[in-house]
Amino acid sequence: MRIMNDEISRVDSANRTVSFVVDQRLCTGCGTCVPACPSKALSMEETSAGFCRPRIDEQRCVGCGMCYRACSGVHHHFPLPEHLDELFLPRPRRVFLGRACDPEIHSRGQSGGVATALLNFLLERKSVSHALVTSMPANGSLRPQPVFATSREQLLECVGSKYCMNPLNAALAGLPEGLDGLAVVGLPCHIHGIRNLQQLVPRRWDGVFRCLIGLFCLQVGGYLCMDNFLRLRNVSKPVSRVVFRKKIIAGEPGEPCIEYADGTCQILKEDFVGLFSAFAPLRCGFCFDQMNQMSDLALGDPNGFPDEITSKGLNTIAVYTPVGEKILESAEQQGAVKLFDCSREQIWQGQLVIQARKPRVISHWSRWKELHRPVPDVGALENLRPIPQSRFSRMNMEFMWRFEGVSDRSKAYRSLMRRIWLRKRWGKVRRYLGRRG
Ligand SMILES: Cc1cc2nc3c(=O)[nH]c(=O)nc-3n(C[C@H](O)[C@H](O)[C@H](O)COP(=O)(O)OP(=O)(O)OC[C@H]3O[C@@H](n4cnc5c(N)ncnc54)[C@H](O)[C@@H]3O)c2cc1C
Ligand code: SF4
Ligand code: SF4
Ligand code: SF4
Repeated sequence: MRIMNDEISRVDSANRTVSFVVDQRLCTGCGTCVPACPSKALSMEETSAGFCRPRIDEQRCVGCGMCYRACSGVHHHFPLPEHLDELFLPRPRRVFLGRACDPEIHSRGQSGGVATALLNFLLERKSVSHALVTSMPANGSLRPQPVFATSREQLLECVGSKYCMNPLNAALAGLPEGLDGLAVVGLPCHIHGIRNLQQLVPRRWDGVFRCLIGLFCLQVGGYLCMDNFLRLRNVSKPVSRVVFRKKIIAGEPGEPCIEYADGTCQILKEDFVGLFSAFAPLRCGFCFDQMNQMSDLALGDPNGFPDEITSKGLNTIAVYTPVGEKILESAEQQGAVKLFDCSREQIWQGQLVIQARKPRVISHWSRWKELHRPVPDVGALENLRPIPQSRFSRMNMEFMWRFEGVSDRSKAYRSLMRRIWLRKRWGKVRRYLGRRG
């Protein structure tokens, strides 16, 4: 759907704003509504339950509904595959394994450093003047921050995955002066938001985005996860930041690490990323696009490949558009990245899309339809045959519904602890039943 600039002031037919999205727990926290608002009436704020959500300044809001229309939590203003299988298993033009050639970028990058290597390549050859990336500031906030980077040093400050909410697109409300082409690294919900903006207000966004680099995404944790992580460990020293997967040796997957303000750090041998699923926003359960199919090219870990390959420190790469193909080709020719062949099936298999993502999304969809609650606009999921759900899954979703609306932070902590306890017990019961079966 494409609308013209003069239509922007038209009131949305249902007179909705993003408040509706937040109330219906369909907000991803992507931040797209902030640059979409023509009245600058929106900002992103943290809720008591630790989610990043838009707040409307009622004095400025003119009720135009533009924020709602641009919202990537409910709308997709671009064609999506009509078949269920293709929706979950995209068909990229090309797929590769790859890594950065620069040794420092390769060793510090999360998987193979391809995201940082491509951004550095685009900046160096002046194809873009800025790159929109995400830093974990070393000020103890434990909240990732969007940054417009212009140099290799700034890019290296932002390497690594932050498995945490990130209102990246809110930064687009204040584009830097002298911008001449922007490359963005974003999760699927960020990239969907940017595609919405491009469709809805083409004159404003034409020529701004030169390359959209996607990351694969299973889910993110809310901010409470970060705070809780430190609370559980009784950390007493001031913390500067948490690194989700700190790599000591290039090629290894990396371990969670707490960096202290006094310069020391503590590597933790535990599954931190697994903990995040207890803190994920409800909306992640509706997200079909694990492989970021609306980006120009998307990057992931080399999940599912044999150890002798993954230990080299590599990315999986899915190329979706001619723009992505051209950039990757030139980066390889100019020696910024090294590419290796692999197959689409190997990537699908490694990401467990069919085994994990598809049943989860269908289960969420079924439950919400049953309760007559709104769902995001995805045609292929419209006529879905509902599937029976376990009592645990229904309880889990109901918990998340209530939890997202909690307005007292200590109550939020307590209920989360109960949920984590229940999940552990449930895991034990399943393992026990599995052994007996
Ligand atoms: C929340 C999240 C979930 C993920 N889920 C999967 C998955 O299920 N399967 C899989 O194979 N891979 C997943 N990844 C991708 C993987 O962890 C690597 O980020 C990816 O392979 C790129 O590696 P790299 O070495 O090229 O990145 P680097 O060169 O280290 O660069 C990483 C880039 O990612 C950006 N970034 C970091 N965190 C965020 C964030 N929260 N939001 C937006 N941008 C961010 C940084 O700005 C940086 O530019 C996920 C990443 C994130 C952030
Ligand atoms: S309704 Fe319009 S003015 Fe109000 S917050 Fe949304 S986009 Fe801004
Ligand atoms: S645009 Fe993003 S941040 Fe804004 S309401 Fe929608 S999902 Fe939430
Ligand atoms: S799972 Fe989807 S909605 Fe959740 S953070 Fe990832 S891309 Fe965004």
